[in-house]
Amino acid sequence: MALSAESSIRQRTGEAVKKPVDAATARKDGAQTGKTWGRARDVGTINIIICGAIMAFCPLFVVYAWMSCTSFQCSLMGPLEKVFKADSIESGIRTLVHDDFPKPTSEGFKLYFAWLAFQAVCYSWLPGKIGYGQMTPAGYTLPYIVNGLLTWIVTHALFFGASLGLGLFPASIIHDNWGGLLIATNVYGYLLTGFCYLKAQIAPSHREDRKFSGSIIYDLYMGIEFNPRFGKYFDFKLFHNGRPGIVAWTLIDMSFAAAQYQRIGYVTNSMILLNLLHLTYVIDFFINEDWYLRTIDIAHDHFGFYLSWGDTVWLPFMYTLQSHYLVRNPVDMTWPWFTFVFVLGASGYYIFRAVNHQKDIVRRTDGACNIWGRPAKVIRTEFVTSDGKVHKSLLLCSGFWGLSRHFNYVGDLLISSAMCLTCGFEHLLPYFYIIFMTILLLQRVARDQERCKGKYGAYWVEYCRAVPYKLIPYVY
Ligand code: NDP
Repeated sequence: MALSAESSIRQRTGEAVKKPVDAATARKDGAQTGKTWGRARDVGTINIIICGAIMAFCPLFVVYAWMSCTSFQCSLMGPLEKVFKADSIESGIRTLVHDDFPKPTSEGFKLYFAWLAFQAVCYSWLPGKIGYGQMTPAGYTLPYIVNGLLTWIVTHALFFGASLGLGLFPASIIHDNWGGLLIATNVYGYLLTGFCYLKAQIAPSHREDRKFSGSIIYDLYMGIEFNPRFGKYFDFKLFHNGRPGIVAWTLIDMSFAAAQYQRIGYVTNSMILLNLLHLTYVIDFFINEDWYLRTIDIAHDHFGFYLSWGDTVWLPFMYTLQSHYLVRNPVDMTWPWFTFVFVLGASGYYIFRAVNHQKDIVRRTDGACNIWGRPAKVIRTEFVTSDGKVHKSLLLCSGFWGLSRHFNYVGDLLISSAMCLTCGFEHLLPYFYIIFMTILLLQRVARDQERCKGKYGAYWVEYCRAVPYKLIPYVY
């Protein structure tokens, strides 16, 4: 009785029950020990090797893309040709590192840490309604401050007011310091990973929602804590993904558009369309920030290198590659091509939003709504949290969710293709985004299948029978 009262208070307030814990006893004391759904815990050697390799090599991959753009007009072959044309491979690599690698700069560090501090202040102090995440495997329903849209508006207004309005700095400042920023973000991304690893052992926010795999590498990569926080509301996951990550996305694009203007005296229609597509995606994210709290990023992934370095470095540097490309290789699209790419992006966006909206509305109304003009068809499910409590949920199986189990990803892939197609067909580098998104979303289909099967068991099997296609109806 006492336990259930405490648990229901936790669900309402999102507060953790704090008990002191030391690292040695962390696994026994409070961390999940039974088999529950959520992040995998029993990991094999191959998985661990892959995680280690990603942590070691992904930063080099980002440096390679940066270098290709900065020194070789965005040609991916450029750095390799330089190495192979040298007297020896060793001297080629040495010259490449010396001439073309990004260098740490004090401006880069100052800019980045000022940016982080500014975003942290906005996240903590700007007003916003309180949204709630999905119930965690340990039974918490956590509160979040949903003020992303206001933060986005304030940030962009200040940036352009100060640069274009008052002339305090050039609007191309991000483009101009891109190398120094790459070093600064990497330093922060690694420090954050290490900090979260230690925090999970010494001062976890919700000890029952931690997962230890037995491998330091895997735990560093995938994270131990599910929702690390400072205090009640400063959530690491939402902050790093939503603020320094996604707010920066449009700011970076616009700064690169300003750099294009400085270089060639005008902004190409391809750069304008790219900015428009990214802007739509980003604004949509903030308008629907409350919905985002119940997507896989927040509802499934623990906070390790994958999210901390991913949000800090990968997202701002790799998701914006098309605008870096267009600065070096301006593309004037023909109007029929422009129209085609625009319509492709707009259709993708429509699908993306409409599919996600159907799931959101059916969950919010507990199935009492119409989908495509007819009463929603749902499978009512039960699932168990690690405290042994049984909860109810539902799976929609009509509308877009009757076509395939992840039709929202189809919309995302169409928008991503349109973003890349603004860059023409001269180079592979701007197509990195659609290649990456395809791999990411296919992998997500598999991960989500595992997660939902673990969470819903026979109900999920019934759903898969009702909706047999994973992504594209009659194809996959
Ligand atoms: P979904 O929004 O599809 O969420 C999957 C979860 O929804 C499942 O784990 C399950 O969670 C619930 N669910 C599954 N099937 C049903 C159903 N039939 N009815 C109701 N609920 C169901 O996936 P994501 O969170 O990955 O993606 C959200 C959006 O974000 C997508 O549009 C995606 O394209 C986009 N995205 C963009 C990325 C980017 O980097 N640009 C990266 C990843 C995603 P539960 O039952 O536990 O609630």
